Amino acid sequence: MSAEAARKYSFETGMYRPPSEGGSYSLLIRVTRNCPWNRCTFCSMYKQQKFSLRSPQEVKDDIDNMAAICDGLKDFSWKLGYGGEITREAAIAMINRDPVLNSSQGFVMIYNWLLSGGKTAFLQDANSLIMKTDQLVDILKHLRKTFPSLNRVTSYARSKTVAQKSIDELREICTTGLDRLHIGLETGDDELLKKIKKGVTAEGHIKAGKKAMEAGFQLSEYWMPGLGGKAMWENHARNTARVMNAINPHYIRSRPFFPSPGTPLFEAHESGEFEPLSPSEQLEELKLMMEELDFTSKVCFDHAGNWWRGKNGGLLFTQSYEGYQFPEQKPVVLRLLEEGIEVQKNTPETPFLRL
Ligand code: SF4
Repeated sequence: MSAEAARKYSFETGMYRPPSEGGSYSLLIRVTRNCPWNRCTFCSMYKQQKFSLRSPQEVKDDIDNMAAICDGLKDFSWKLGYGGEITREAAIAMINRDPVLNSSQGFVMIYNWLLSGGKTAFLQDANSLIMKTDQLVDILKHLRKTFPSLNRVTSYARSKTVAQKSIDELREICTTGLDRLHIGLETGDDELLKKIKKGVTAEGHIKAGKKAMEAGFQLSEYWMPGLGGKAMWENHARNTARVMNAINPHYIRSRPFFPSPGTPLFEAHESGEFEPLSPSEQLEELKLMMEELDFTSKVCFDHAGNWWRGKNGGLLFTQSYEGYQFPEQKPVVLRLLEEGIEVQKNTPETPFLRL
């Protein structure tokens, strides 16, 4: 493998993407590095990392290098008689020619992405909308032109950043090819938002969410059951439901709070200042929030942190990325919560159980 070939196939990827993008083997395109905010007291994702923007040319070069891998795999497939179909044999032949690919995570990602149909992509890292609109649009145009098989491109975004863009800018980004935004709402309670240093108010979340919907994005809002602990659980549940109702996004996704080492909330938990909910209290909080939801969104528990068990010992909720459609399936979710609370009565109450 020559240095020239190594350069031709190299590109950057970040660490994180939502589980729903892993399930669909999304192509990961890194448009910025790390988080421009990086102050949330529960979050350890980018704590030691410095934020930086990437230039559109750098990102477009990455996309071209990804396309070179795709072309290489297809060429070998044709040569080996598979008619362009992506096969293990084509991948092995390409690795034999360019051995450096054998230890390339990027090569494995592209191979899996093509095998799964090459349909989805995710822009990394924590807040792609922080880029200047014309630069993001430039990247999106190049991405869509290079990979016309894409039918969904998504990204994380902060409410604050979405609210700062004009509706015309958001529309342009959306129509150029960014289909879905994943926003970390965490809570709709102003006091708790302040405490966790989210850098946005409940009204700010509502404004951003409504704007994103109006611009045409599919919208996933993430919230954190248990984030308020014993002291704030009720306001957390009620106000999060209130804010979700006001936005009425396409999806809301549960990411139960877990104290991550290296974060201020972890320290607060260790010192006893933060009192976590027991599993049955977590379910009571969820029940209150579900009762208060009055919208037409899908409610999803698509993360391993939603570990509660049902009466047969299996997971209480489906971890499907499409979740439960409200209001139709609200009674199903409430029934499951009753079941989980009942099961929990006969189970040791250890907070933060994991799968
Ligand atoms: S905005 Fe997101 S990635 Fe950044 S610190 Fe907060 S939770 Fe973490």
